Amino acid sequence: MQDPILLSAISPLCAWYEKNKKSYPWRESRDPYRIWISEVMLQQTRTAAVLPYYERFLSAFPNVAALAAADDDVLMKLWEGLGYYSRARNLKKGAIQVMECFGGKLPSTKAELRKIAGIGDYTAGAIASMAFGAPSSAVDGNVLRVCMRLLGSDADISKEATKKMLSNALDAVYPSGPRAALLTEGLMELGEAVCIPGGEPRCAACPLSSVCEARKGGIAHLLPMKSAKKPRKILKRTLWIFVLPDGRFCIQKRGEKGLLAGLYEFCAEEKELSEQEARQHLSAKGISFTELLPIGEAVHIFTHLEWHMTGYLVRLQRPIAGMTLATREELSDVYALPSAFRYFKRYIEENKI
Ligand code: SF4
Repeated sequence: MQDPILLSAISPLCAWYEKNKKSYPWRESRDPYRIWISEVMLQQTRTAAVLPYYERFLSAFPNVAALAAADDDVLMKLWEGLGYYSRARNLKKGAIQVMECFGGKLPSTKAELRKIAGIGDYTAGAIASMAFGAPSSAVDGNVLRVCMRLLGSDADISKEATKKMLSNALDAVYPSGPRAALLTEGLMELGEAVCIPGGEPRCAACPLSSVCEARKGGIAHLLPMKSAKKPRKILKRTLWIFVLPDGRFCIQKRGEKGLLAGLYEFCAEEKELSEQEARQHLSAKGISFTELLPIGEAVHIFTHLEWHMTGYLVRLQRPIAGMTLATREELSDVYALPSAFRYFKRYIEENKI
């Protein structure tokens, strides 16, 4: 059954979007590959932050075949600082799959796109509607917020069932052809520019104000409903910035699975150590050093976890077996060190360690 409110929102929203759309490089093309890359980059990342990455990434990997053949270290270096690194790994996995199972071309339906690694419901809907004009919705946090307000619904948007309900309701009214792309992009744009999160949406400037239930009821600022998140786990870590007499740093590659997989990092202990404990700890491990200097603390916040890091600069007499040795320039230009280590990387650069 078609929801009359959603149905009546389509034409004004598409018309508004055509007049008001912001110009982004990924909106210049209907190439499914380019849309795929932009949608993955834009997940949980601000548009302004994505812009320089998008161009660089596409210069290095201009098509599916190039991405499928990407060198892992080069791929990670291009993604460095963008966060959620599993997105980059999944893009490559997905590209290999597209080469092997779809003849190098992204399929055109949401159902087929969903079979590709890293492409979930949202990304599949975005590619299908924007690149192929398929009548498929793409429901993310922005779209959930806009539509829950539009419908005046107090359903909990943190629940998968709410997302599914909205996705089905939108699919039932979605147009096909060029209007499918307009609707997907219009919903995104409205959520970014007008029906904004946190506080009062800009209803006076909204093309949907005459059909919006939340505006009519004066409850737009109360929606959407979202149950409280669990508090993040805090992990205290001691970070070792090991430096050799010739100025090279000892770093290591993280494992192939889990948080920040495949990226490089400074060595660490999963506990907080005072300066004295740090000295004792290294000595007990047989690591000989000429100097140990506290260089400050930093916090990095992941979705479900916080790293509270205490750093020590440790001047070693000789390399530690199994570690990768990198000059200061290589730390910046060659090895992908996640932004969790930004503070310590900056310390090295500013102090010319
Ligand atoms: Fe959002 Fe207000 Fe527009 Fe309703 S009228 S969709 S609450 S901006």
